[in-house]
Amino acid sequence: VTDTPHSNGIVHAIGVVRISTDNQREESLEAQKVVCQRVARQAIGAQPEWTWVSSRGSGEHLDRPELEEIERLVGSGRHQLLVAENLDRIMRDAGVIQLLKRCVAAGVRVITNNGFDTQSPQWRLLGSIQAAVSEEEQEKTSTRIKRQWPQEFMNGGCLGTIPWGYLYDPPDGSAGSKNDMHLRKDPRLEPVFIEIVDRLFQGASYADVARWLEQRQISVPGKTNGPWEPHMVARLVREPIRAGIRVFGRTETVKDLMTGKRIPRPTKKPPLTREVDHLRMIPPERHEALLAMLDDRNAHLRLARNRASGRRPRSRKRIYPSQVTTCAICGSLYSCAGSSGSIQGASPLERRRLTCGGKRQKRCWVAAFLHAPKLLDALFRGLVATAEERLGDPARLRAMVGEELADLQGSWRGAVEAARAECGRLEQGQARLIEAAEKTNGPVDALASRIAAIDSEVRSAKASLLRLESNPPTTVEVPSADEVSRMLTELRSGFDPEDGLTVAKLRRVVPRMTAYPFRLIGGTSLFVFVLAEVDLSVFCRPADSAVLRAEVLKNVWLPAFETPRPVALLNGVREGLARGLSPTAISVELGANLGTIRESIRLLDEMERLGLPSPFVPATDPAELSGNGRYRRDPTLVPVPGHTPWTGDLSGLPPLPDLTV
Ligand SMILES: [Zn+2]
Repeated sequence: VTDTPHSNGIVHAIGVVRISTDNQREESLEAQKVVCQRVARQAIGAQPEWTWVSSRGSGEHLDRPELEEIERLVGSGRHQLLVAENLDRIMRDAGVIQLLKRCVAAGVRVITNNGFDTQSPQWRLLGSIQAAVSEEEQEKTSTRIKRQWPQEFMNGGCLGTIPWGYLYDPPDGSAGSKNDMHLRKDPRLEPVFIEIVDRLFQGASYADVARWLEQRQISVPGKTNGPWEPHMVARLVREPIRAGIRVFGRTETVKDLMTGKRIPRPTKKPPLTREVDHLRMIPPERHEALLAMLDDRNAHLRLARNRASGRRPRSRKRIYPSQVTTCAICGSLYSCAGSSGSIQGASPLERRRLTCGGKRQKRCWVAAFLHAPKLLDALFRGLVATAEERLGDPARLRAMVGEELADLQGSWRGAVEAARAECGRLEQGQARLIEAAEKTNGPVDALASRIAAIDSEVRSAKASLLRLESNPPTTVEVPSADEVSRMLTELRSGFDPEDGLTVAKLRRVVPRMTAYPFRLIGGTSLFVFVLAEVDLSVFCRPADSAVLRAEVLKNVWLPAFETPRPVALLNGVREGLARGLSPTAISVELGANLGTIRESIRLLDEMERLGLPSPFVPATDPAELSGNGRYRRDPTLVPVPGHTPWTGDLSGLPPLPDLTV
């Protein structure tokens, strides 16, 4: 019946059975084996000795290890027969002809259930036709399946991986593809997500959030074991499902004709969306606003990444108030006193001391430390005092703002119009780009990245429009001094100068501080007074009321040093002198040594002689330094471009505080 060569009367056969992972079940493998056994019996009249090669590949990838296994078996010379249900079970590609040729050369007869047999004279032609047909069919099937996807998605299917924060519980016995109606929010993780969003809004970085999640031992997304990484936070907050929207069809896969692999690329078609209210963790408008805020905040990183050098800007963690405090002389930001100005590797003492960043770079002569905790204490005291002074009569303020409201509403309407026009303009630009991309036959990478860039602009514009629209100036809110003090106390108790979140809260109230160097009359040491710009309008509404701003903005002097004893005793000494006491008697009465009292007297004399209300005078020139000023050696001053060094002019500045006790 057969002329297939065999030894000892037993034929050794290779059986190839394959299922594709997506749409075939395990039983199908067994069914295929039965078919192969029948085909073999019909062909050689007996049951051969089987070596099975089974695969669960997707069938489109040409580099399947099973193919190599087949080649190895064929090359071993121990087999005389290769059986498959169909040629496309071996390989859905024209490459199958190469394999058939190798089989024939090795003396292996190939037979299939649909009548293919390498012993037939036209096997080459038949093989080519079958391979071509099956490739065609596969494309058709793939197109057919893809055509069904949109419908399936709109019905809740095409779910893919279950996102972090959600649980998939299908009812018992339900089979088939996953559906989003069986998806629900994980009650343990939903509040965590809401807190993540709050933290990001309040200024926390992805890294801050990742650290916080790690500390709370929250499970990481996907199958990894952690730890939390900033990119995981970035990715999960961007998922539209958090706002109750599923999006489908952002990318499509294209078959690479050389390797047979499918490569994802962004589509030009608009993606499909499906509202899934039961999966919403935050309102869509809040989600939009969050994404726009993050885009704005990270724009500099994107720019840096896009630069050809690929270098990213060095990020340096800062300690409050270094990020808001500039030197009045050189215009540099203050930084912590570690050797590099970075807090990594800085000792606890160095962390508490801030110095002018210009001095560190030898471009400024202001060599004085700011004691950060002392400054912070003074700041909160100053904030509470400002609240008491400025918000002592909230009713009066409310009435004043009420009169301004009509004007505000007019300009608000104008701003909304402008924002709408901007959105329209951006969207038109985007549409034109997409059109251009569709017409281009060549590479569209450059266009695609421009489309993506304009997309984030559109989102950002829409978010600011939304912010505007949802904040019409209709309500007047002016809290009382007590309410603001309570909020400030709360902020103070949870304040950590190294935590981006609490720092961001405080920065809204104190956007800027400037450090002015002073000296005692005739003295050499520098004493830095920090002028804090306090803005209590963040507690009030409407936010852009000019009347309100004028009332609740205040510049407050904060001494960033321990008050020198002679200064603290000025009032006591002045009083003692008025009563005709001798310096010795005063020193006994005040419990201070005679040298201190003599210095106080000297300061009082000088103040009277110069007609000054304070013993502190502006220090604007390093040359005034004398005696043991050890920084005198370096009087260099190279101010930051655009900064005019302070000339010691005190007009426009509030009077210095009285530091006597
Ligand atoms: Zn400086």
